[in-house]
Amino acid sequence: MLGTPLLRNYMKQVAITGPMDCVVDEVPDPIRSLNFALVEIQYAPMCTEFHQFQNGHKDDAIGHEAAGIVLEAPPASRIHVGDRVVVMPQNGCGKCPLCLAGEHIRCLHPVNPLEICGSPNGRATYAERLIQQDWLLWPIPDDISTRHASMACCGLGPTFNACETMDVGTGDVLLVSGLGPVGLGAVVNGVVRGARVIGIESNPYRVALAKELGATDVVDPRGDRVAETVRELTGGLGADMAIEASSTETGPSVLFRSTRIGGQMASVGWGGPIRMADLVARGITLHGCWHWNHLRHSSRMAWTIRTAAPLLDKMITHEFPLTEVEQAWKLQMTGQCGKVLLHNARC
Ligand SMILES: [Zn+2]
Ligand SMILES: [Zn+2]
Repeated sequence: MLGTPLLRNYMKQVAITGPMDCVVDEVPDPIRSLNFALVEIQYAPMCTEFHQFQNGHKDDAIGHEAAGIVLEAPPASRIHVGDRVVVMPQNGCGKCPLCLAGEHIRCLHPVNPLEICGSPNGRATYAERLIQQDWLLWPIPDDISTRHASMACCGLGPTFNACETMDVGTGDVLLVSGLGPVGLGAVVNGVVRGARVIGIESNPYRVALAKELGATDVVDPRGDRVAETVRELTGGLGADMAIEASSTETGPSVLFRSTRIGGQMASVGWGGPIRMADLVARGITLHGCWHWNHLRHSSRMAWTIRTAAPLLDKMITHEFPLTEVEQAWKLQMTGQCGKVLLHNARC
């Protein structure tokens, strides 16, 4: 039973205690206050936290992707008890020009929810419950499952933003560098918009998965013929639009050379440089894209999740209960997976 008081004094929360070492602790439940809601996490999609696990970066507040159900709502809020919501990452102030424009991810004055609420916990998504400001909870439409909606976090979110920004549509050739869980989301976003999607990736598991999701071709980034191969596949021009999701040192420049003159490129990855001289010569428009804007693009995101539903079931390759987080991280380290979800066994 959700919300049973006896079960809500303590909750499970994952902590990294050393290299390849973690525990699932029992910690006091989060406390909400002011405009914060208390959310029962049903799905916590896994991102790059496995690097932290591998390196032994000690932390007891892990994760930034979650979807679940509201257990306690602020008074006079647009969010109510029982609402299903996607939890936006990070904590904007809600007052600065960036927050007001829906760009809270780049807030000028981020806040600390634990300080505001006087709560011992509640920032982690690798946990049973968390607290978040009501305006940073995205209500899930009735016809979308909570599991699929959780892909509005990093699964689809950043590359959705890139596709919106570049206005990717029917007939466009979209090139995606790096087909990890974020890049696979770019494939899905491109396919549902009617674009022809070409990937750049060497991991055979992910090459096969990208093709299953609708990528027409996947080019191996090893060697120095990537741009040439992409041009051969696109009538000599190169891709109309490109999304960098490899976060590697050389990925952005290779992708840039594979994009057609006068095209567009968006980076959701945090990788290496592009030479200004090349930018001038090729006349390509560059965009830096992080999280999606849930205030501006809510209905478009809902359409994407609905349209992509069968593809999301392929992109989510594995699910584990929170208590099996160690196995989930070890799987992610092998690269033999798409998007991996943690779920709350009580849901
Ligand atoms: Zn702000
Ligand atoms: Zn993420």
